[in-house]
Amino acid sequence: MNPSHKDFWFVPLGGCGEIGMNLNLYGHSESWLMVDCGVTFENDSSSGGGGNLVEMPDPMFIANRSQALVGMVVTHAHEDHIGAIAHLWDQLKCPIYTTRFTREVLLIKFLERGIKPPIILVAPGEQIIMGPFQVTWVPMTHSTPETNGLLIETEVGKVFHTADWKVDSAPVCGESFDSKHMESLGALGIDAIICDSTNALQSGSSESEAALFNGLLSVIEDAPGRVVVACFSSNVARLQTIGNVAHVTGRFLGLLGRSLQNMHLCAKKAGYLNENFNCIESAHLGYLPPNEVLAIATGSQGDVGAALMRLASDTHPNLSLARGDRVVFSSKTIPGNEEAVERLVEALENLGVIVIQAEYKSMPLHASGHPCVEELTHMYSSVKPSISIPVHGEEKHMTRNNRIASNAGVRTQLQGRNGDLFDIVHAKVRRKAVPVGRLRLNKHNGSLEQVSA
Ligand SMILES: [Zn+2]
Ligand SMILES: [Zn+2]
Repeated sequence: MNPSHKDFWFVPLGGCGEIGMNLNLYGHSESWLMVDCGVTFENDSSSGGGGNLVEMPDPMFIANRSQALVGMVVTHAHEDHIGAIAHLWDQLKCPIYTTRFTREVLLIKFLERGIKPPIILVAPGEQIIMGPFQVTWVPMTHSTPETNGLLIETEVGKVFHTADWKVDSAPVCGESFDSKHMESLGALGIDAIICDSTNALQSGSSESEAALFNGLLSVIEDAPGRVVVACFSSNVARLQTIGNVAHVTGRFLGLLGRSLQNMHLCAKKAGYLNENFNCIESAHLGYLPPNEVLAIATGSQGDVGAALMRLASDTHPNLSLARGDRVVFSSKTIPGNEEAVERLVEALENLGVIVIQAEYKSMPLHASGHPCVEELTHMYSSVKPSISIPVHGEEKHMTRNNRIASNAGVRTQLQGRNGDLFDIVHAKVRRKAVPVGRLRLNKHNGSLEQVSA
């Protein structure tokens, strides 16, 4: 299993045929390039959900040839793309290339594990030679800052790896989606696109981040008491929008939950959240008049021990909610977490709290970070690749994504799963070409255990 200078291979070890734990490999001329290295959260049946088991791809295949690994590119700061790096570092030990914000998030994880992998800072749009690969960072819009797609060029082919993306003309943080840039990729002659399938079953287009301001304002400005907004902490644009609402409604802003505090720091260091985002100490929230409180909280998925669950059980050290206060879910429930979220909502309602969920409002309170049918069509028609290879989705998402590609004029569709080898030069898939598996993190001692299939 050694790519020659005539080969250009794509080999996913995770994230192909599933949503989560992305780990992609590209092979050419005796060398390998890794793109992303993430985790997935599985529900522990004994605790009734909340996604508290951390699992990741078994990197054995690439760990066994780590001398040939020229580097790892990290496309963005979501857990399904970065979460496994610190845990698998001992087996990989290659230089890591990423942008400012993602670097800050990684540094916290490395500090927690007491490791110091070399991180090479890349600017969006930059081009770097890594062994026989020439990699160009292509800024994309998504639900966390500085997400980048990658143009990966070798002497035998060119691939566009989209990473997670959506078309957002007003993303609140960072530059808007650049359609012209996609067309310029098309002009290069792209052999294959490796593309996000998460929302391939959704018609139309995703909502823009900027559209959420009015929706969030409408449920916060007329609230007689406290308002707590639940959202994903890595969505810096959402944090900014909530900060803007705090600013115009004259409420004090507080952050509840460690991951929010961490993300706040990372965002500040990378140059975000500088306007209308003046947080007070969360310990002060409890002393304010209720109608002056706007808190952002972690735990939108019903996570045990997260801030929202502690508010629901009235065991949060900094804030107690009372009858008539509002909790707004600026998030969607990830499949598998429905029961946990239901329990959380019930507990909040038992306190007399009014719960407002994004799914049930006519004004948007949440925007997805992934492309729907129209956005995918736009991508395929701009980049005009010869081959489409869907990833970041289950079978049904990838099948639909390939149909969209075909309808948009992409000639060849390849579909496979983790461990398959996609031969870009010959437009073929070799099934089960490399060994794959899953490792589970033992939370007590940090060790990794094989998960039996
Ligand atoms: Zn992802
Ligand atoms: Zn993502």
